[in-house]
Amino acid sequence: MDSPSVVVVGAGLAGTVLGRTLQKRGWSVRVFQHTRPGAATPVAAGLWNPINFFRLIPGWRVEEALSAMLDFFEAEERDLGQIFLNHRPYVQPILHQEHRLQWEDAAAKYPRWLDADWQGAKDAGLVPYERTWGVLAWGLVREAGWLDVEGYIEACRQRWQSQGRWVDALWTEADQVERSSVVDARGVFAHSDGEFLARLKPTKGELVEFTLPNGPASVMIKRDLFLQPLGGDRYRAGATFEWHDFSPGSTDQGKAKLHAGLVQLLGEDLSGAHDFEYKAGIRPASHDRRPYVGAHPGGVNRWVFNGFGAKGVLLAPLLASELAAAMEGKGVLNPEADTKRLGPFHSSGLAV
Ligand SMILES: Cc1cc2nc3c(=O)[nH]c(=O)nc-3n(C[C@H](O)[C@H](O)[C@H](O)COP(=O)(O)OP(=O)(O)OC[C@H]3O[C@@H](n4cnc5c(N)ncnc54)[C@H](O)[C@@H]3O)c2cc1C
Repeated sequence: MDSPSVVVVGAGLAGTVLGRTLQKRGWSVRVFQHTRPGAATPVAAGLWNPINFFRLIPGWRVEEALSAMLDFFEAEERDLGQIFLNHRPYVQPILHQEHRLQWEDAAAKYPRWLDADWQGAKDAGLVPYERTWGVLAWGLVREAGWLDVEGYIEACRQRWQSQGRWVDALWTEADQVERSSVVDARGVFAHSDGEFLARLKPTKGELVEFTLPNGPASVMIKRDLFLQPLGGDRYRAGATFEWHDFSPGSTDQGKAKLHAGLVQLLGEDLSGAHDFEYKAGIRPASHDRRPYVGAHPGGVNRWVFNGFGAKGVLLAPLLASELAAAMEGKGVLNPEADTKRLGPFHSSGLAV
């Protein structure tokens, strides 16, 4: 029997993870990818974090998502011959008593993920920060890290190109092939698609990369911004959240927010930082913080893999395996992510 064929429209992180998942399950995959200004993946920091820092509670489906994510990317590392996963604990300075109580309470409830009294600050070179900030204690999030998104996307593109599966073009309805499934993984650009994905909540994000001699390299730090060591003296800090301005590039307002965050994070060390590179993209966030995964009303064998917001790294592998099973008629989609919740919309197709 011929393998089933699928066109994945958009190879950002979502479409790439889904395309690779389907290919490993025996699908014949073709990928249409054309980078439009504002795409999220080229600027993603790639962090995964099992905990929501504001509420100090575990993220949605975190145990199964984390395990699926690690299995998926470890297999990708073996297959593509490159390292993509950077395991790094995430630490947060605790600066006042109320925050300390919140951390202690959360660490007692979720000991797998949280330690409210981390003792590694000295070894991590954080003592100068401790003094400047007046740190009462350090909170630690275990099992966090970051994916080398750029390296992973590029490795997949090269593999698909060498297999003749990569089309560098905008997909349009005219590219529809009979009997082939189509998955819409266009990120925020699906927002223009009639009513169906109009509930996407585009969320612009800006971040900055820079060189910082002798910065902390073994942990990621969270204050208003995150500080992510990239290797050598290179660092990334971000990100902003903006719900009204969807211009694709960096803005003065975004840069000012990042600068204020860097002053808070680095204090005097900021004067030694240089080679700043500002980046911006638009996250395809959903109206209810759950991805959109399931059938697309634009026709038979039309599917959606979208709405990953700021959680593409952690959630895409688990949900890709669930969508693949549903496309094969074998699995039941998670009701909180299923596109059924968007209601019975009609669509003439994937507008571009
Ligand atoms: C500043 C910032 C920081 C972030 N940090 C993190 C992080 O630390 N951790 C994390 O998990 N996530 C992070 N994200 C979010 C992450 O980028 C997304 O969750 C993830 O990349 C999924 O995006 P996507 O593939 O759905 O969309 P996109 O990355 O936008 O990809 C969609 C692609 O489809 C292409 N396309 C659209 N229409 C067509 C068409 N008709 N034909 C062909 N191609 C088309 C687009 O040009 C685009 O390249 C961040 C995002 C931003 C902006």
